[in-house]
Amino acid sequence: MVSHVTTPAAELLETLPKWVTLVRAPNPGPMTLDGTNTWLLRAPDGAAIVVDPGPLDEGHLRAVAAHAPVAAIVLTHGHQDHTEGVPRLAELTGAPVYRPPVRDGLDIAGVVVEPLSTPGHTKDSVCFVVRYRGQEIVLTGDTILGRGTTVVAWPDGDLGDYLASLARLAALDGRPALPGHGPALHDTGVAARFYRTHREARLEQVRAALAAGATDAPEIVARVYADVDRGLWPAAELSVRAQLDFLRRESHPPIRGLDAT
Ligand SMILES: [Zn+2]
Repeated sequence: MVSHVTTPAAELLETLPKWVTLVRAPNPGPMTLDGTNTWLLRAPDGAAIVVDPGPLDEGHLRAVAAHAPVAAIVLTHGHQDHTEGVPRLAELTGAPVYRPPVRDGLDIAGVVVEPLSTPGHTKDSVCFVVRYRGQEIVLTGDTILGRGTTVVAWPDGDLGDYLASLARLAALDGRPALPGHGPALHDTGVAARFYRTHREARLEQVRAALAAGATDAPEIVARVYADVDRGLWPAAELSVRAQLDFLRRESHPPIRGLDAT
């Protein structure tokens, strides 16, 4: 799920590594950008690791299955637009769904996949740091997107967790970010810092709306997201609720209005 901002958080990545393939699902929309990105990682002589099968769309899943033998299916998080196609893809390919404990990696023909716990968008969000022959990339799911910024999907998502996850990703300078939606970005570290700045700016806007007398989440959305398509307001409200939750925890005594949400 994404917000309305459409500028990329970092330079776009011009060329994917040869061992990485993108198959984009045909489910474009305001919350999915051009559609869900299904990433295939594969050494020339190996089977593929599929990251996020995407929606239950027979044509899409068949395109993924036709690309190569599949050794494993991994997931960045549990949202339907990433996971709905899992049972069908497993059926088409016979591949196991790999649900990694956080420290546990995968190595398929030299493609090494290491999960990095990055809660915030959702509680279960992970990124994957992937290495092959000296190249390193980061699969970022919905934690960092190719365009715009992600929604902190309150109450499952948590802004404090999200900021800590961005700090973790900010250390991954120089590695391309391959997101769950939108184009690949040149540098995960740059993108993570852009996201952090954006989040801090939004928090300031929410604080200002409270100071100006807003008393609940819908009212704050109407002020802070006034220039945004109203179709995105329900998603914006989730992020605002996550921000109110965050501010409530950090404020002593409580800020006026916060307890009204
Ligand atoms: Zn998501």
